Amino acid sequence: MEIQLRRSYCGDDLFPWNCAVCELGYTPRTVMADIVGDEGDVCDDCLAYLHDRHPELFPGVELLDALAAKYPTPVYPNSAAVRAAEKADLDEASRQFEDSYLWRPGDPQVLPVTA
Ligand SMILES: [Zn+2]
Repeated sequence: MEIQLRRSYCGDDLFPWNCAVCELGYTPRTVMADIVGDEGDVCDDCLAYLHDRHPELFPGVELLDALAAKYPTPVYPNSAAVRAAEKADLDEASRQFEDSYLWRPGDPQVLPVTA
């Protein structure tokens, strides 16, 4: 299993759901720990456990916290805004989607500089 950190693309995705590992409910933040190649996301408690067990492979909650502080809003506030952006400029919307991936396995776990 690999995990990537992704900025929420659409604000409509920020509702309570269940962690893909422990299956307990949690509310995702504006930056989420996605399981690569799967629909699921991982809660902070499971991410902390995985990072403690294998820190080279799994990002830490500290990095997720720092990225969530740096990106306190989703890329688009709701699905209507996503549709409008894709209609206006699909290439730009695709670039925004790609840019929503903030950390991937193999990237250094460097905390972002906050202003
Ligand atoms: Zn969990």
